[in-house]
Amino acid sequence: MKRRNFIKTGAVTGGGILLGQLPTKNIFSKTFANISYPIVVSTWEPNLNSNAKAMEVLLEGKNSLDAIEQGIRVTESNPDDTSVGYGGFPDADGIVTLDASIMDWKGNAGSVAFLQNIMHPISVARLVMEKTKHVMLAGQGAKKFALENGFKEENLLTKKAEAAWIEWKKKNKKPNNHDTIGMMAIDKNNNISGGVSTSGMAFKLHGRVGDSPIIGAALYVDNAVGGAVSTGNGEYVMRTLGSFLIVEKMREGMSPQKACELAVERVYRSNKNLDDVNVCYVALSKSGEVGAYSLKKDFTYCVTTPQSNKSYKSDFLMK
Ligand code: ASP
Repeated sequence: MKRRNFIKTGAVTGGGILLGQLPTKNIFSKTFANISYPIVVSTWEPNLNSNAKAMEVLLEGKNSLDAIEQGIRVTESNPDDTSVGYGGFPDADGIVTLDASIMDWKGNAGSVAFLQNIMHPISVARLVMEKTKHVMLAGQGAKKFALENGFKEENLLTKKAEAAWIEWKKKNKKPNNHDTIGMMAIDKNNNISGGVSTSGMAFKLHGRVGDSPIIGAALYVDNAVGGAVSTGNGEYVMRTLGSFLIVEKMREGMSPQKACELAVERVYRSNKNLDDVNVCYVALSKSGEVGAYSLKKDFTYCVTTPQSNKSYKSDFLMK
């Protein structure tokens, strides 16, 4: 398919699919062929637009790392996404703090935690990976590094997010807000990369860092096997290192679907109170097989090939 045609399709399906219109029949362990073409997979249906951007980058012949960065930047700059970047809901003190991570097919990784006033934490994470000998920078240090590398300081708290925070302070009632973007892509050279970006749980304690910047928790890729990303209540992912677990199970021969189920079951059997908790995983094998599973209902994920850009409902454990 020509790039222009793909982008046209992407633009139509990208913004237009409502949850109610999703296919009712789940697809599990769907194999999208023995991969000789690019593929992009991400968490949550609203990220179809980000997948379309990532696919556009891949079809230009760029690598999976470029696709991940450019794709995730779309979500980070969208003020209507209240869980990522600009427009993200703030913490309990009314401050937007961001976590992000990125990993390439060579096993390089970079991340930022508790970053403030920088619109694109995924790009800062990439720079940490490429320009420093470290994996993670946090807080003021991460911000200083970003500013020194040409990033602008910006106010990320939108009126809408501020109003939601004021309302929360009055009623102390939390919205169900966890729509972190986790994305994986395989490029034409069969190389996988992945990334995650979030503003974290809405109205979290000031200083809280979630799973998203922790390599092995919310993100892990290995070019010999495939990758996994998570979304949901990060504390439950951090305690079980779900993405690393999934990739290691796939390495042993488990399908992406079964590996996601195993990681969710691990959380289920952890004897923790699971009220108001969800944990969701998407996995992608190097052969183009996609798996997804969550603890509770309503998790959706996106799969994009040069021919199609669609979201699917995930199966879940606690029926
Ligand atoms: N996993 C994220 C966190 O705990 C939240 C989310 O998925 O939206 O920070």
